Amino acid sequence: MTHRVRGVIARSKGAPVETTTILVPDPGPGEALVRVQACGVCHTDLHYREGGINDEYPFLLGHEAAGVVESVGPDVTSVAPGDFVILNWRAVCGTCRACRRGRPWYCFATHNATQSMTLEDGTPLSPALGIGAFAEKTLVAAGQCTKVDPAAAPAAAGLLGCGVMAGLGAALNTGNVGRGDSVAVIGCGGVGNAAVAGARLAGASRIIAVDLDDRKLEWARGLGATHTVNGRTEDVVKAVQALTG
Ligand SMILES: [Zn+2]
Ligand SMILES: [Zn+2]
Repeated sequence: MTHRVRGVIARSKGAPVETTTILVPDPGPGEALVRVQACGVCHTDLHYREGGINDEYPFLLGHEAAGVVESVGPDVTSVAPGDFVILNWRAVCGTCRACRRGRPWYCFATHNATQSMTLEDGTPLSPALGIGAFAEKTLVAAGQCTKVDPAAAPAAAGLLGCGVMAGLGAALNTGNVGRGDSVAVIGCGGVGNAAVAGARLAGASRIIAVDLDDRKLEWARGLGATHTVNGRTEDVVKAVQALTG
């Protein structure tokens, strides 16, 4: 069966995005069909529309989402219909060189759905980051579904799929922040503030949040920043040096 649902697509470089009918196939082996409940708007969606990622138009935008699994392929055991999940664009393979070295965040072979979602005329869509969640339903690899507490609000839980994991991962994995470290986070949007939270979790003792917007700096304090610097009114380098010796 094919599901006819509404989705938000970018048809060509720079063109306004449009809501249109898309066709989503039933899940085959290794795939899951997810009814999307919430999807964040991430700057990367804009990059796709602007041609900043690649030229494989039309794109089905959206990649920071939560929803409920509607059906799964015949061999799928990791999730089941009715599960509340977030969608993650890094469904790691577990077997490539990066995965075997214990660095799955560098996985070379992350999983996406095998079948294509299409426009009504059969034109295949390129789902943003292999997700494509600005749609009522989307088809993903089952490994891209991560079960979370169904009590969580979808609009909050969905953020785990991109901004939170990008920022937390930057602090905990890429930056390898440790106990007692001093950290400066430049830019306190969704990703930056998740990096602030990650630095706090890792035990950093001095976490300096830098932004141009006092409202975002206030959020950073709420997530664990010990100091804030507004680059509009202060010299950032001097301020950080003064705070860290
Ligand atoms: Zn994103
Ligand atoms: Zn891998």
